Formats: sequence, C-alpha cells, structure tokens
Amino acid sequence: MASRSSASDLGERTPAHGSKLPVRRAPTRSCVACRTSREKRELLRVVRAPSGAVRADATGRVAGRGAYVCRDLDCITNAITRGALSRALEIPVPAGLLEELAATVTTDSIGGGTRGQE
Ligand SMILES: [Zn+2]
Repeated sequence: MASRSSASDLGERTPAHGSKLPVRRAPTRSCVACRTSREKRELLRVVRAPSGAVRADATGRVAGRGAYVCRDLDCITNAITRGALSRALEIPVPAGLLEELAATVTTDSIGGGTRGQE
C-alpha cells in the first residue's frame, strides 16, 4: 500500500495564516429591551406581518416590520411586559407571544445537537 506522501501532503495544505482575511462586518441590531447591539443572527427577530399578526421570525426573512430582542428570557419578558416590543412594532403584541418567544429561546439554548429543526 502506498500510503506515503500523497495523504499527508493534502493534510498539510490547510492555510494557517488568518492575518489577511477581509474584514466583514456583520450587521447589528439592538435589543428593544436592553438596547445592547448584537449581530442580527444573535438576536431574535419578531415581525409584524402586513396582516397585523405578530410572531417570532426564525429565518429573519419574513416581510413586515421587525424588532429585535436578545435570545434571552429576561429580555423577551421585559420587551413584552414593558411595552418596548409593542412600541417598536407599533402594535399591541398578542398575549401568547411571550410564550411563543420563550419557547423559541428555550428550545434553542438547550441545543444539545438538535440543530436544523426549523
Ligand atoms: Zn436584550
């Protein structure tokens, strides 16, 4: 068997220098509850659909007016109970929204390998 150079050759070809990577700034949004700026993907987007329905937007692509909140139960609770979310969305949020958003973050943060379940 000729397990000589070819295999190890390929293995060593990974470029290990990361000094010249292009700086890519991720878009940031701020949480409506605590005002912390984070990358969009770190935040939970809540969207008000044109129909007036308010819901969590797991994909970040739902059309409508969006607001962002940390994927944190405290922030979600504050955003809703203090009215920051309804102010941002310019509509009263439905009563069940807190539970819906809470379910989103709790299932998400357990994350023991259950990814891609959307
Ligand atoms: Zn927050």
